[in-house]
Amino acid sequence: MTQSILVVNCGSSSLKLALFDENEKKIASAIAERLNGQDAFSRIDGDKQPVTLPTNPNHKQALQALVSAFLERRLMSGAPTSIGHRVVHGGETFREAVLIDDDAVKAINSCAGLAPLHNPVNLAGIEATREQFPDTPQIAVFDTAYHQTLAPRAFLYALPEAYYSDWAVRRYGFHGISHFFMANEAARRLGKAPENTSIISAHLGNGCSITAIKNGQSVDTSMGLTPLEGLVMGTRSGDIDPGLFEYLRTQGVAVEDVHTVLNHKSGLLGISGQTNDMRTLCELADTGHQASALAIEIFCFRLAKYVGAMMASLSQLDALVFTGGIGENSVQVREKTLGHLQLLGFIIDTDLNEHHGRHTDGRIEHPNSSFPVLVLPTNEELVIAREASRLAQAY
Ligand code: ADP
Repeated sequence: MTQSILVVNCGSSSLKLALFDENEKKIASAIAERLNGQDAFSRIDGDKQPVTLPTNPNHKQALQALVSAFLERRLMSGAPTSIGHRVVHGGETFREAVLIDDDAVKAINSCAGLAPLHNPVNLAGIEATREQFPDTPQIAVFDTAYHQTLAPRAFLYALPEAYYSDWAVRRYGFHGISHFFMANEAARRLGKAPENTSIISAHLGNGCSITAIKNGQSVDTSMGLTPLEGLVMGTRSGDIDPGLFEYLRTQGVAVEDVHTVLNHKSGLLGISGQTNDMRTLCELADTGHQASALAIEIFCFRLAKYVGAMMASLSQLDALVFTGGIGENSVQVREKTLGHLQLLGFIIDTDLNEHHGRHTDGRIEHPNSSFPVLVLPTNEELVIAREASRLAQAY
């Protein structure tokens, strides 16, 4: 029997599915967006006909509708061999992917306080496929798990110890699935074993984070207790002085409002006053829009400072790696960022950068650069599919 692995990725208001065959080839994918709203929409990639959803569909209903559409359109011939779910927060409980049973569901639920927008919808996805395919092994792959190798010096905040012991306040880090993929992919491209490869991985999408990876293991990362900390992002501020809350309180601004602004109205969107989309910002900056140019400048400067900071965790550096929609596509962001890092020995090759390293196996550094610089596409779905396939064998 041929194997198929279904990958489920439930976001706060969206849902993505991918189906892989036993050779790690993606055979189908689908998306549902604006869930819980009247304008919810869903389609299978490459298929013009949308998939019909109930009114105001929740994640479970949308997932079951999409899976049924996969079956009806014969993209799947029956139950998949295994199902991999992306789960955002595994707290300190999950250091690696797990086979889902009732205890795992309880433990994922107990981490929900740390990711209230994500873990409940991840669980809704798990519940939907467990109902639909009760005999199929299901696996949870966590965004935080890869960073569980951080030492206390990197994961503890300089707060009273009770904040950690009583409330689990610490740095968890996110985008772990992508950073793990980068660690392996960069090693492969460099012709080295992952366990002997040390990189700095910059995942720059709508959310952005950077991770120092020493001999294959995450040793420091820019996101913290929540995905708000660190780099400038599409709509998130990244690092901010926490004194801001008290100051704005004295100005009559409620904590909840500041929280909303920091998460949804800051970052590239807040500085530019225009958009959170880097491609549009670059176009605006080219036409002379000053605030857009400033947003790009602040984004790159913060990123460069973090590259420097991440080097403190490493004793060697085999490559700086760019990935995510911005990292993979923005010539300008890579050039500006590395322009701040010449003192550390990074030198970009303008021509190779223009071509995103496409003809040089991802390499974009100048021959005089002290370190290789790589542009690599991430593939989180593939990591989840591989983990699902691996753990299902133990089922
Ligand atoms: P998500 O985190 O939602 O998966 P992506 O990884 O797709 O996001 O990244 C989205 C970001 O990538 C957006 O800011 C988008 O403008 C940016 N991006 C995509 N293509 C380009 C490009 N050619 N030039 C600059 N930025 C780009």
